[in-house]
Formats: sequence, C-alpha cells, structure tokens
Amino acid sequence: MQLEIDLTGRRVVVAGDARPSRRIVARYRAAGAEVDLRPSAAACTATVLDGAVLAVVVDPPSGRAGQRPTAARADQAFNALQERCRRSGILLTRETGATDTGAVTLIGGGPGALGLLTLDAVAALREADVVLYDRLAPTDALAQLAPAAELVDVGKLPGHHRVPQAGINELLVSHALAGRHVVRFKGGDPFVFGRGSEELAACLAAQVPCRVVPGVSSAISVPAAAGIPVTHRGVSAMFTVVSGHAPLTEEEHLHLAGLGGTIVVLMGVSTLPQLVAGLARAGMRPEMPVAVVERGYSTSQRTTAGTLSTIVTAAGAARCQSPAVLVIGEVVRVGLELSGGAAQLARLTESLAS
Ligand code: SAH
Repeated sequence: MQLEIDLTGRRVVVAGDARPSRRIVARYRAAGAEVDLRPSAAACTATVLDGAVLAVVVDPPSGRAGQRPTAARADQAFNALQERCRRSGILLTRETGATDTGAVTLIGGGPGALGLLTLDAVAALREADVVLYDRLAPTDALAQLAPAAELVDVGKLPGHHRVPQAGINELLVSHALAGRHVVRFKGGDPFVFGRGSEELAACLAAQVPCRVVPGVSSAISVPAAAGIPVTHRGVSAMFTVVSGHAPLTEEEHLHLAGLGGTIVVLMGVSTLPQLVAGLARAGMRPEMPVAVVERGYSTSQRTTAGTLSTIVTAAGAARCQSPAVLVIGEVVRVGLELSGGAAQLARLTESLAS
C-alpha cells in the first residue's frame, strides 16, 4: 500500500545515522518537508516529536549490524518510539538506509509513455541522487519520479552530440565513485542501439557496481502504437531489427530481402531512399508494404504508409522526420486492416494497382 501525504512545510523527524539516512532525508526534503535528523529512535523524545506529522526510523544497511547496537535493542527503541508516536498521533515508518558506495543503474525508459516504464525503473528513479537522461526517454515526469535527484540532460539531438559518449561514461563513473546512486535513463531498451553496453563496460572497468533494467524497445512498441504487429501467424514468423544510422551494404540488403520476414528499422529516416533502393536491387517486390511511424506515443504520432515503390515519395511529401520506426513487410497491411486504417489502406491498395 502506498500512502500519498502532502508534506509541504510539515515537520518530519528522521532517526538514523547521517550517511545511510542521506538519501531518505533528501527525498523528504524534496517532497517539501522540514526534516529534523536525530541519531537514533531513542533520541526522538516527546519534545523532539512535538509538531511532527511523521517519524522515520532508518535501519542500518544490511551487513552493518555488527557495528550497531543489536537488532533486539534497535527493535526495543523502535517499539518505545512507536508508543510515543501513537500517543501523539504521529505516523511512524521504518526504512533501510543506503550503503555509502555509489552505483549506476542503466534504465530503459521505454518509447516515451509513462505507463510503459517498468516498476523496477520507477523504484530505481525514486532512490536516485542523480539522473543522466536522454532526449527520447520519457522525461516529462522525471522531477516527480526522481524527487531527490539532480537531473542532467546529456541528450543528443541527431548530429549534435551534446555530451560525447566518453564524457557520459566519465560522468557515470565519477558520480558513482563520489557515493551517489546514479540512474542512466535512456529511451527504449538500453541494449538496443543505446550504447548501454559501453556504459556498463565503463562502470565495470572502474569497479562501479552497475545494474541494467531493460526497457520496452521502440522496435516493437512503436509499430504496436500504430497497430502493426511485428509478427502475425501465417504472415511473418520473424522480425529483424536494423539500424539505419548508416546505409547498409549490398550483402546486407541481399540477406534482409532474402529472409522473407518483417524488417524494423530504427534511425532510418535519412537513409530510407538508400534502403529502399538496396532492397529493390536485392529482389524485394515493389508492392511490399512499408510504414513510417513517427513520434510513437506522443500526441503527434503519425503513420505514413506506402509500398517499397511509393514510400520514398510518400515520406518526402509528408516530410517524415526522426524519431521514427520503419516497418517493411506484409504485417503493415495486417496492422492497417486491424486498426481500421481504411483510408491509408485504400491509398496503399491504389499504389499497389499502379
Ligand atoms: N534504445 C532505443 C533505440 C535508440 S536509437 C529503443 O530500444 O527504442 C533511437 C531510435 O529509436 C530513433 O531514431 C527511432 O528510430 C527510434 N525511436 C525511439 N523512440 C521512438 C518513438 N517514441 N517514436 C518513434 N521512434 C522512436
């Protein structure tokens, strides 16, 4: 059960050692509370509790019990405090403090919809001291999701590397070595064209603990947002996810066209003409349906559909722009039929006939 209490301007007494309590104190301060940190539950006398709405007892991080009064004594002090709080009508909670060593959590933030964040992602953001985020991650709600964190935009607009990759790696490592819990917040899944593995390698090389929280990749979810299934029984039993960052080789065009399954292309708007020409040279039918799905999950999401022979003209006329996911395959027709995209389907059929 999660209780929502407005803590703005309210007194919150936190009982625990300063370092392990640091993040908890920061979180309550970020929620607007006036935090009074006391060294232990026993130190929270009736006078200290006066005027407080909430008391929080911070237990030492696991593995530290040896340096602390025994767990039984801590429980005793907690029980006594519980009684004082009960008498004064003060809420009481117990939390475990964080270790002093920093760590990095690489999070896949999904394609941009808040609802497509994982529970693990939300939990890690809540504990973050600093968040390094990208342009395509769902950033609108970051301030609420990571209330105690410093938010740093390291996003890269295409062609404008705001913070170079080596700089991002260094930032991750240096924040973590300073004892912070760092969240690297990326669009989609961190290991799908996200350079997540390079960041993981940089952390491991610096002996910084690093955990990866996978995300919902745009490769599957953005077609889905447009109603297009990447597989469909009897139509396509495979999908290949390709980067269109640079034009493909002739051999790659041949292999892709020969697979006979769905082709999903990320970062492919600017290389669409080369891809289409290459697939045509490799023998793909000119009637093969193609869709360009721009800005999935935003209010300006748009699908432009055509065929291998018409899509370059259609995308040019519609001024299609990045970010977009391209889908090449018969599943595009299935998707348009399913989502009742009658007008687009008619246009597609027209282009098939011409
Ligand atoms: N790691 C990400 C992909 C990073 S590459 C993932 O798993 O989704 C960036 C590309 O992803 C963009 O150029 C675009 O092709 C695609 N993309 C990401 N989010 C998108 C969105 N909301 N709408 C359309 N395309 C998106």
